[in-house]
Amino acid sequence: MLDSLRIITQEVNSAPSLSEAMQVVVSRISDAMDVKVCSLYLRDERNHYVLRATQGLNVDAIGQVSMTPNEGLVGYVAKRGEPINLENAEAHSRYLYFAETGEEKYASFLGVPIIHQKEVLGVLAVQQSQRRRFDESEEAFLLTLSAQLSGIIAHAEATGGLEQYTQETTDARFKGMPGVLGIAIGTAVVYSPAADLLSVPFQRTDDVESEGRFFHESLGVARKEIQELGKKLKDRLTTEEQALFDAYLAMLDDASMTREVIDIINKGIAAPYAWSQVILKHAQTFSTMHDPYLRERSADVRDLGRRVLSCLQQQSAQQEPEYPDNTILIGEELTASVLGEVPPNKLAGLVSVQGSASSHIAILAKTMGIPTVMGAVDLPFTQFDGSVTIVDGYRGNVYVNPSDDVLDEFQALVREDQEMFRTYESLRDLPCETLDNHRVPLWVNTGLMADVTRSIERGAEGVGLYRTEVPFLLRDSFPTEAEQLVIYREQLEAFAPHAVTMRTLDVGGDKPLSYFPIKEANPFLGWRGIRVTLDHPEIFLAQIRAMMRASEGLDNLRIMLPMISSIPELEEAQALIHRGYNELIEEGLSIEMPPVGVMIEVPAAVYQSKEIAARSDFLSVGSNDLTQYLLAVDRNNAQVADLFNSYHPSVLQALQQVVLAAHSQGTPVSICGEMAGDPGSAILLMAMGFDVLSMNSTNLPKVKSVIRAITLEQAEELLENAINLPDAESVTNCVDTALRRFGILSRPRSLVF
Ligand code: PEP
Ligand code: MG
Repeated sequence: MLDSLRIITQEVNSAPSLSEAMQVVVSRISDAMDVKVCSLYLRDERNHYVLRATQGLNVDAIGQVSMTPNEGLVGYVAKRGEPINLENAEAHSRYLYFAETGEEKYASFLGVPIIHQKEVLGVLAVQQSQRRRFDESEEAFLLTLSAQLSGIIAHAEATGGLEQYTQETTDARFKGMPGVLGIAIGTAVVYSPAADLLSVPFQRTDDVESEGRFFHESLGVARKEIQELGKKLKDRLTTEEQALFDAYLAMLDDASMTREVIDIINKGIAAPYAWSQVILKHAQTFSTMHDPYLRERSADVRDLGRRVLSCLQQQSAQQEPEYPDNTILIGEELTASVLGEVPPNKLAGLVSVQGSASSHIAILAKTMGIPTVMGAVDLPFTQFDGSVTIVDGYRGNVYVNPSDDVLDEFQALVREDQEMFRTYESLRDLPCETLDNHRVPLWVNTGLMADVTRSIERGAEGVGLYRTEVPFLLRDSFPTEAEQLVIYREQLEAFAPHAVTMRTLDVGGDKPLSYFPIKEANPFLGWRGIRVTLDHPEIFLAQIRAMMRASEGLDNLRIMLPMISSIPELEEAQALIHRGYNELIEEGLSIEMPPVGVMIEVPAAVYQSKEIAARSDFLSVGSNDLTQYLLAVDRNNAQVADLFNSYHPSVLQALQQVVLAAHSQGTPVSICGEMAGDPGSAILLMAMGFDVLSMNSTNLPKVKSVIRAITLEQAEELLENAINLPDAESVTNCVDTALRRFGILSRPRSLVF
């Protein structure tokens, strides 16, 4: 059964269109289960379940026969969302006869729903003439298969139709989720990591002759590399491993495979893409074979494919991408270092297949004000290189090759946004205070030098979080103390005399350093933040020293420790900071000991916030991680992004507890998670008593305008109502209703198409 499951899903995955995929499903199931009939029904926009593929019924009935959830056995399966297993289908009250299907010959029926994210997308049904109930293993088989198919069908639905996207398709819309609000219109540039067969961008070539020559040359280079590697490793390899090298060379000499690639190139398609397609097809063929030995050859084909691809990419001029004006960078998984490769004046928008709005890359994009869509899991992104693309960061949609109407509509939205920003400019020098004169300093979160100018322009009164890992992520090796000194000095000088809160290196989780790889099964529960730097005091001390040296003569530095989960961790870090400080004083520097604060971002720290506050100069809540850990929701996982909600009453109650604990010790407390930049949340946080709200500079003017429009009393009343509600949705409704009552809720305008 497992084998059949694996083979069917692989075949379905590689089918060129959904209709072919569905036909594969029904014919393979009827073989595997030895049944006379297997049919697949899919829900249409009218909520009817339409026959889309069948093995055994009359094929003319495809597209003709359909049932509402209140009709027939198929409708009954869809309505109940559960399997129905009947020995004698005809005897069931919901049985409905369709003459055009020829189904009277079949007695027993097993139907299972195809469910994706709680919705019944379709029904898979098998029938047979013999009157017998399908046994449990058969039911389990069909259920497992339907669970695996649901993602593929949802993908097809999300990509706007049942057939594949082509480069000519206009107005193709793909769904993701809002990452950074805003609209960007530009040209897609596909980011493809080196030697990654799955993300080679589709590119055309004008000169098929020279592209063919280039392909043959690259094959030659790869052949030489493999021969040399084989020679070098000769003494260390078993006979079997040596045979693998010979097999690789034989594959490279395989004229038919080369021919396939050249045929694609002759259609005007660039060699790297042509090669990747041929390799993926061959690897797929091997992986569906019954013989386990042949199946394992699939990995060899991919390995060889990567080697040749790497040669093609190294030699190809396309390796060094030229970034057009208004680049929309699209990739499977974007990282800070990839962002750093695009000149900032050219980068207009971002689309990431992986991740969610709470991923670090989205947060970084937010500080830069780059409209972003995250978690666009159904995006056939390799096809978009060079296409006109719209990133709708408000609704989380991506449009490729838009028609003039769609383009006009979005251009109008861009103009509206620009207009709105102009109205915010007038707020720049006004204080952030409520109508009843309660003052709330608004600080910013920074990471790049580009953020600094934006932040100052928008009236930031300090830096609540400078993510020092960003300059670390943009390099190929750890920066030295002297290099760090220069970077930190720039930040401190730019904001002086305002305070700049520098967080010590917070890597791990979804922020791996390419030059310091950490391999873990659960990165967010692993070696992250302070845990890494306490294990590497040399890295920590160099950073602390650089920060303090940079603050000489400015004295606006505050040091903040990430991911503290126990008092000993705090004490160890404080001891190292004091050691660094004493060293610098001995070296003759004239500096004040900076305030040292702690991020409250793991539940353990919430429960010990009083003890932590008693031992530190300030607290700052990292609501991104705190939400992740309190709700047990991976902040980087698009699948559970809906559950990541800082309005969850547990999060609100934890935040309130931290403020009370900090204030009981006379310790100031700020918040620097993304929550602070959300207008509704900012009101709740102010009411809780946070002393400072620190956010991305993009949202700062909006938060200021909202706070200036209400009284502290109104905010406190809202908090009192919201914090005791049972769930996040009720809190959202409560806050939205209040904001509307105060006349300050603004939503993105709805689109006309
Ligand atoms: C947080 O966790 O809320 C935070 C501010 O830190 P980061 O997002 O960098 O993990
Ligand atoms: Mg954090």
